[in-house]
Amino acid sequence: MAANKKQNAGQTSLHKVIMVGSGGVGKSALTLQFMYDEFVEDYEPTKADSYRKKVVLDAEDAQIDILDTAGQEDYAAIRDNYFRSGEGFLCVFSITDSSSFEDTQDFRDQILRVKGVDSNTAGSIPFLLVGNKSDLENNRQVSQADAQQFAEKMGVQYVETSAKTRNNVDKAFFDLLKSIKVEKNKTVEQRPTDSTGEKQGCFARCKKRCTIS
Ligand code: GDP
Ligand code: MG
Repeated sequence: MAANKKQNAGQTSLHKVIMVGSGGVGKSALTLQFMYDEFVEDYEPTKADSYRKKVVLDAEDAQIDILDTAGQEDYAAIRDNYFRSGEGFLCVFSITDSSSFEDTQDFRDQILRVKGVDSNTAGSIPFLLVGNKSDLENNRQVSQADAQQFAEKMGVQYVETSAKTRNNVDKAFFDLLKSIKVEKNKTVEQRPTDSTGEKQGCFARCKKRCTIS
């Protein structure tokens, strides 16, 4: 019993974050700025990679696992697997590119479909809308008000970041981590039921699985 307790105390929560968004919006630049405190201008655009970092979340040690996607998501099966494995999503567009903003709706729809939630239960999926390249104010194509309004319609938070200046980069990742933690801590009883009467969402079950010693 005592040994068990000791082992549990040493366990660290692992939170799985997926970077989604069109090519060129700064998913890799944001990831590398968060991981290594540096702005990488020419990261290979077709390269997807995963990263892990120790963080302190609400005064507790935790780990973040970041999957930086890079276009392979065009293959539906690969994309769906990525999305299924994610516990939270940073959905990135560039404020200098209105088409990347429009694309975020598709990413949102795909994630909700793979997670099997409808608009009533979509709030159970931790998701942040991220307007990146805020340092390029002169080239802005998407107003803050439009992005904010769109986020409110989806019932998600909106944050503007710059992977170049590091503005709000930690905030984006930590706000998402906090929502992931809140969802994982919800009890099964609080979850909505699906058509078969089963409780939805895997986070309660994941709570056990997603810990490492
Ligand atoms: P990804 O395809 O979404 O991974 O985009 P990348 O991270 O590869 O970034 C695409 C290009 O945008 C690169 O040339 C980056 O240097 C640039 N970039 C990314 N984030 C920012 C930013 O916040 N500000 C500026 N000025 N450039 C950025
Ligand atoms: Mg990239």
